[in-house]
Amino acid sequence: MRFFIFVLCFCIVSIQSKGQQTVFGNLYDHIEETIDEMPGSSGNQYSNLTPSQEEDWRDLFQLIAEEEFAAVAAMAGDLEYRLLRFIDNAGAMNREFFVLEKTTGGGHYWGTYVFRPDACRRLVIQCPHPRVDSNTGKQGIYVYQNSDAYAYFLSGTHRCNHLSPTACSGSTSVCGSNATYRRSDVAHNTLAGFHLATEVLYDHFEDLRFIQLHGFGQQSGDPFVIMSNGSRNTPNMDLAANIRDGLLTADPALTFKIGHLDLAWNRLLAFTNTQGRYINQSTDACTSNATTGNGRFLHIEQEYSRLRANEQQWAKMLTAVESAIGCHTVAIQESASIDPVFWFSQTDRALHFDLPGGGPAYRFVFFNFLGQVLKQQEISAQSTIFLPDSGPGFFSVWDGGRWVTGGKIF
Ligand SMILES: [Zn+2]
Repeated sequence: MRFFIFVLCFCIVSIQSKGQQTVFGNLYDHIEETIDEMPGSSGNQYSNLTPSQEEDWRDLFQLIAEEEFAAVAAMAGDLEYRLLRFIDNAGAMNREFFVLEKTTGGGHYWGTYVFRPDACRRLVIQCPHPRVDSNTGKQGIYVYQNSDAYAYFLSGTHRCNHLSPTACSGSTSVCGSNATYRRSDVAHNTLAGFHLATEVLYDHFEDLRFIQLHGFGQQSGDPFVIMSNGSRNTPNMDLAANIRDGLLTADPALTFKIGHLDLAWNRLLAFTNTQGRYINQSTDACTSNATTGNGRFLHIEQEYSRLRANEQQWAKMLTAVESAIGCHTVAIQESASIDPVFWFSQTDRALHFDLPGGGPAYRFVFFNFLGQVLKQQEISAQSTIFLPDSGPGFFSVWDGGRWVTGGKIF
């Protein structure tokens, strides 16, 4: 697994071109615009995928999972989608994301998907109802970026956009009188691009978890947060309980109901959510509730004023995600097993390199998460660098201006 990172001073350097379009910008703003522009509660712009589109769509996400981004970029056009290599330059440090989104004139509103293959948290943040559950789409991209999670999923339209019902079970009165979910409600439709993408990633990665951010109107007697793992079953790894504990550190006044802990509670428990059913291995995600929860799906319903109103409130969920889901050292573990160009000794904070020799000199840079350079020097192909004892950071090795390798240190 490769880790691409470069600091501001390297902006003019182009790293490996992979065929896709590269853009520089503010990812948060880009997603906010996408949410603002998505089709609203009527208009029927939403469409299910046909069987042949479904096949191509699955291939696309399989390739994303395998980090074959040039192939993704090449085939996305047939589905009126495009892959952007999005360099977010809003913060002190540039960060690379891959954004799969519909083309400007494209007619398929199947959602927007953001990836960072070397992110530290093995987590997908999903926002299926960004327009009805106010601010959840924006809260989602905020939590996604700041927690350094693997993927972000955003629906392509308002959940009520298409008048026709989904074939899947369950009902709601959110689009008017109580009726079967609309087909544009991607949390309740196994033919939706959002759902199919979830299936592919769930099947491909054993360690990925999926958190869905929702919002509800608090009635008298309701808690501020209602969580469900999609079943009444307490999983070994109880993500809901860990998120609750993290939220309480950020705001001790919050109150909770959790489906598998508060067994008398019956509302908003997401048993008809098709992503939850699939992840919990229901016999049929479209029609049957799951009977057990494996802990990899978490549905969070949030009251507005304390959790969704603004960035200050979103930060509570960020705190909870960061405390509930650990960050792991992808680059270092992977490099040891696949391509041992470097390894790290935690005891003396030493990085050992075994790089190809005979070429130009290597340049080593170590910087903290704010992008401040803490150490840089020329190194030889075989060398040992002692890192400053100043906390976690990223390192990068360059060879005559080309990025060679890098990773995170915790
Ligand atoms: Zn919702």
